[in-house]
Amino acid sequence: MMKYRLMAPGPTPVPEEVMLAMAKPIPHHRTPVFEKIVAEVQAKLKWLYQTKNDVIVLAASGSGGMEAALINTVNAGDRVLVVNGGKFGERFAKIAKAYGMVADEIMVTWGHAVQPSEIEYKLAQNDYRAVCVQASETSTGVAHPVCEIAAIVKKYPGTILIVDAITALGVVNMPTDEWGLDVVICGSQKALMLPPGIATVSLSDKAWSLVEKCKSPKFYFNLKAERKALADNTTAWTPGVSLMIGLNQALTMMQQEGLQNMFDRHAKLAQSIRNAAQSIGLKLYAPESPSNSVTAVVAPDGVNSSKIVKGLRDRFNMTIADGQDDAKGKIFRIGHLGYYDQLDMVSVWAAVEKQLADLGYKFELGKGVAEIIKLM
Ligand SMILES: *Cc1c(COP(=O)(O)O)cnc(C)c1O
Repeated sequence: MMKYRLMAPGPTPVPEEVMLAMAKPIPHHRTPVFEKIVAEVQAKLKWLYQTKNDVIVLAASGSGGMEAALINTVNAGDRVLVVNGGKFGERFAKIAKAYGMVADEIMVTWGHAVQPSEIEYKLAQNDYRAVCVQASETSTGVAHPVCEIAAIVKKYPGTILIVDAITALGVVNMPTDEWGLDVVICGSQKALMLPPGIATVSLSDKAWSLVEKCKSPKFYFNLKAERKALADNTTAWTPGVSLMIGLNQALTMMQQEGLQNMFDRHAKLAQSIRNAAQSIGLKLYAPESPSNSVTAVVAPDGVNSSKIVKGLRDRFNMTIADGQDDAKGKIFRIGHLGYYDQLDMVSVWAAVEKQLADLGYKFELGKGVAEIIKLM
């Protein structure tokens, strides 16, 4: 018997309280019982998002939220400016192109954050309907400067900022209304501590005004229909009922912790892994603008990172993530967003050190673990 440890940047572990809430008999969704849950979830999501606006809940993975954001605000033929610094930035461009939008991509070297000045320059050149960016680019472990970008986009009345905050919401302070983030997307299997299957999307007044004018074809992901349903504490289609019940419980747990404590905890988890890696001579893949949700570590010379990932899986029944595309075999990624504490960081790093030592990397065994203990 081996205990399973999920340490990937999504899906993330689901707390027992959430699993138990979801294990109860499922109510019908057109009932007062469920309407009450929708209302409670809505109030708590507004708290988490730090917004006064509605937060639409869709039965979809995070990518469905990204698609919904684009097809409800941007028409075919319209230009969108996409920050492409990893797999998820690339996904925004792919979605836009699939719907006949013109995706103008700012290609950012993997491991780096976009320069806000590049966005400023592009917006001055062309008329864009939207700027799309990841608050945390999970594939590279980079945090993009969303607040600065929002301040630039705000100057253009016909342009909205669409933020993929799927691994940022609930991890770092990102006040939606205060920063003027027009569309903010989140997904259930990251810091929301739920199984995959729910996407949440908030829209500002500026974004809703584009929704009114948007003619892109859509049926299931109709945010106007969802907003109308939400006014009656319901959803346009059958919602992910058990996930909604789980979300209600997860949000209660988040409220018990409090926003600031939640952000502080994640900052410390991230700092622990960064310190641990650097203390044994490993380099961070995104040293300048690291995400607090996931840390990408460069495997030492002569060590294939896929062997670290596989070793953790086979020896310790633990899941971390390899790099993707060109970074495959070169980096490994440890997720620390959601239901984690410092002791979880100790266990993942102890496993990484054991595997590195057995793969022939020379360092003082236990040094990184000691760095994590120092921050406890
Ligand atoms: C996980 C993730 C998504 C959504 O991926 P799905 O597999 O569709 O849930 C989108 N963006 C980022 C940054 C993510 O980490």
